[in-house]
Amino acid sequence: MKKILALLLIPIAVALAFIVMLNDRQNYVDESKVSYAFTNVHVIPMTEDGLIKENQTVIITEGRISEIVDANKIKFGPNTPVIDGTGKYLIPGLAEMHGHVPPTHPPANFPAYFNEDYVESTLFLYVSAGITTVRGMLGYDHQLELKEKVASGEYIGPNLYLAGPSFNGNSVSSLDQAREKVRQQVDEGWDLLKIHPGLTLEEYNAMADEANKLGIRFGGHVPQAVGINRAIEAGQETMDHIDGYVSYLQAFEGVELESKMDEIIQKTKEYGVWIVPTQALWETIIGAADYETMQNYDELKYIPQAVRDNYNGFVANNIEGNPNLNYEEAEEHAVLRQRLLGAMSDAGVRILMGTDAPQLFSVPGFSIHRELPFMKAAGMSNYEILHSGTKAVGDYFANEDDFGTIEVGKRADLILMDSNPLESLDAIRNHSGVMVSGEWLSRKMIDEKLAEIEAMYN
Ligand SMILES: [Zn+2]
Repeated sequence: MKKILALLLIPIAVALAFIVMLNDRQNYVDESKVSYAFTNVHVIPMTEDGLIKENQTVIITEGRISEIVDANKIKFGPNTPVIDGTGKYLIPGLAEMHGHVPPTHPPANFPAYFNEDYVESTLFLYVSAGITTVRGMLGYDHQLELKEKVASGEYIGPNLYLAGPSFNGNSVSSLDQAREKVRQQVDEGWDLLKIHPGLTLEEYNAMADEANKLGIRFGGHVPQAVGINRAIEAGQETMDHIDGYVSYLQAFEGVELESKMDEIIQKTKEYGVWIVPTQALWETIIGAADYETMQNYDELKYIPQAVRDNYNGFVANNIEGNPNLNYEEAEEHAVLRQRLLGAMSDAGVRILMGTDAPQLFSVPGFSIHRELPFMKAAGMSNYEILHSGTKAVGDYFANEDDFGTIEVGKRADLILMDSNPLESLDAIRNHSGVMVSGEWLSRKMIDEKLAEIEAMYN
């Protein structure tokens, strides 16, 4: 009986050996197709909370993630460009969803620092910090060409999605003009429309109607005459700065405030609206920030002196020299904003990472480290915060490209971090390099280029 069993086991063993062999063979990759291989790295795919795939090899082919396998199941020859990820963490690149990119052809009345160097350094600062996607929130003539210049490698920079020139009280003065401006920006190929304050309700409605008809998205501020309720109903896709919510809610107090807040958050969720909070910037604007600390931010050395002068001028005129500024009110306002963000996150409202760089003390790329602590203080978890800059961004841009997570087929936008960002967001600062659309920027290269930018502006 034992003998028969043993005989039966032989063909099974042979079959198993054959299967193992076949599997093993599949795990040799065609080296000629590998642009880069991150070896033996812990992958945080950002597809579900807490998921870490340990000791993986991630292969990049032609700007895309082409394979993710257990590190011990894959072998390379000496010619594969390998990035050793041992003990490190690979996460998707982050996004600045309310960023600004300087004009390539600055208007005549713009200061002299708006030159080629400024465009180049701004784009580089974003990627140096791991920002691989920027939604530019104010378009200028000819700016769309920047998308191609980055894509072709003329500039090192993030993937750009650009809003056109702004819709505001000065740029729009009739209903026909509002509609015409929408048609023009669709024709020119902008990715979205930027809404600023100043539109009348009728102008806004005309803009929204035309935009919805032509299928172009719009976002930004909520004009006072429109109000948050109407903006949501009209299909405004992103509410940036959440100031539209605050001006609506400030009219209420006590239990009424609570119920109105609940109501508007539910409505926001129901309509699938996205929020770009920009808490750090708003605290700066309303007079509730620690200005002395901000004026000494180390990263200010990477921007032109003229921009720093603008920041300092803002503090001197709008804060220190502003007799109408009530610090107590500003503080209350800041607390309400944080409560609102926390409640939105708890309710499952879709939140996107954004800082409005380089608006005020928000140096491109570095500014996320000023914003993230606000998101954390509002009650968001590290995963939720990272999600707002990765998976959520991919979801928002699902009609444009496939990115925001580490999965096969996604655009290869990655950050190689020296420690686990789910444990501490400080990990984002300590990276060993950034990959943008499959191009690898090592830490060494990034540091050299940052030193050049510092030297240029000091
Ligand atoms: Zn802005």
